[in-house]
Amino acid sequence: MFVLRRQLRYPLGILKKNLRMKSTVHTPVKPVPQKSSIPIIIGCLVSGVVGYYVSSNLQTQHTSSTTKLAELKPLKFASDDVVKQGLERISKIVSEDQITVTPGELKYHSNDNSNFVPSKENELPYCVVYPTTISQVSEIVKVCHELAIPVIPFSGGTSIEGHFIPTRRGVSIDVSRMNKILKLHEDDLDVVVQPGVEWMELNEYLEPHGLMFGPDPAPGALIGGILATNASGTNAVRFGAAKDNVLSLTVVLADGTIIKTRNRPRKSSNGYNLTNLFVGSEGTLGVIVEATLKLHVKPENEVITLMNFKEIGEATKTVSEIFKKGIQCNAVEFMDDRQMTAVSEMGTGGDRNWAPDHLLLLKLSAPNVSSMHETMKMVTGIGKQNNGFNIEVVKDEDQKADIWRVRKTLLWNSLNWAKKIKPNALVLPTDVCVPVSQLPGIMATTMKELYDAGLLATASGHAGDVGWYSFWRTWNWC
Ligand SMILES: Cc1cc2nc3c(=O)[nH]c(=O)nc-3n(C[C@H](O)[C@H](O)[C@H](O)COP(=O)(O)OP(=O)(O)OC[C@H]3O[C@@H](n4cnc5c(N)ncnc54)[C@H](O)[C@@H]3O)c2cc1C
Repeated sequence: MFVLRRQLRYPLGILKKNLRMKSTVHTPVKPVPQKSSIPIIIGCLVSGVVGYYVSSNLQTQHTSSTTKLAELKPLKFASDDVVKQGLERISKIVSEDQITVTPGELKYHSNDNSNFVPSKENELPYCVVYPTTISQVSEIVKVCHELAIPVIPFSGGTSIEGHFIPTRRGVSIDVSRMNKILKLHEDDLDVVVQPGVEWMELNEYLEPHGLMFGPDPAPGALIGGILATNASGTNAVRFGAAKDNVLSLTVVLADGTIIKTRNRPRKSSNGYNLTNLFVGSEGTLGVIVEATLKLHVKPENEVITLMNFKEIGEATKTVSEIFKKGIQCNAVEFMDDRQMTAVSEMGTGGDRNWAPDHLLLLKLSAPNVSSMHETMKMVTGIGKQNNGFNIEVVKDEDQKADIWRVRKTLLWNSLNWAKKIKPNALVLPTDVCVPVSQLPGIMATTMKELYDAGLLATASGHAGDVGWYSFWRTWNWC
């Protein structure tokens, strides 16, 4: 890993002027009194050695654009006294109900659902602040910058790989109260929002306009966190991840400076792609305080097709063949047989009888009913050819919602199922990403290794997220 090094540059104009002056000014030569030449020689040697040392050091700085992590000096953070001063200054920027040090809040902002090495008592944030305006965020960050207090941005707290867990205390900036939808530009298919807007609430707001926001990660995820993690979800196969669904960001940088990455027009080739520098930066480059998001027209005539398989390879072959036929899927989700056993044994799947076999769930849509029929026929035909069974096409809105709820709540369902087998079970989620053709192999190997290690695991994933790549998530318990 490298850290960009700021280059030292002389203003070119001044440098040229100095050189010009040196070459044109004529100094009258004075006669030098003849003395011993030894001090002059020593002086020349000393200045030569110093000059060589300085120039070789300067040369090192100028020849490399990167700094190795090992060469960085250890970070120094504020002492307790300085932190106290900082918190006093921050408490003047926000009102009393916007800052808290209650142990419950500190813990909530230091622990995610993954059991991913939670913060120790001496690593918890000093306080949690709930700004409501961009200038409040900027003022808080300025204080932290000046006093060397770490800052951890926080949105919905649904990330599950330790993203916001503090290790150096600091100030947790929770943007959840910056939750306004600022302006919908229906004709331009974009919307300007604050970072604390929840994606499902945004979709409820957009529903009457026939529009939607593409990414659909965990319920409860907020736009700030979705952008900061480049989140995706079941819809990513059709609408892409967060990076594909954002036009512009307003960001508070580490020193409190407020920047806007670009304007609303969709022109794509216009210099540095600053917007996507911040997308996926997980709070390390600044706090996202406003976003202009791209919107999509909500697919019409959408149906959900379900099909079971005995072999994972049969399911993945079905996915490949559907893509190769150019069929547009809005979502392609896979849940393995252990995941489906958990659903059927926990009875959390509603009225439906869920077979304990591998399951493919496909969301399909088409501009009109006749092309929808054609698509359904092709998809179910491919499923049958690959030994799919229990093939069903669901059109009813309530049934579709029930089916998707099973997919969306699988983490909690699997955890509860595991707790029935091992009451002190903990969940350790992780993602793996491979080309679709490699899925059966990696799944078989991973599941065997987990089984041999005595871990209970289920697997699920977005089986068609953007092109030919797929994400498979295994939930492991110890
Ligand atoms: C059941 C479940 C299902 C999930 N499914 C998916 C899925 O399908 N696809 C997927 O991609 N993810 C998924 N996730 C993970 C999670 O939902 C996403 O990572 C989500 O984007 C996190 O958003 P959040 O608002 O909860 O952010 P948080 O968890 O609060 O923060 C996440 C990271 O972003 C930083 N951050 C937060 N707000 C800001 C801000 N305003 N500015 C700068 N940095 C900020 C934080 O410091 C942290 O590093 C799932 C999680 C769960 C529990």
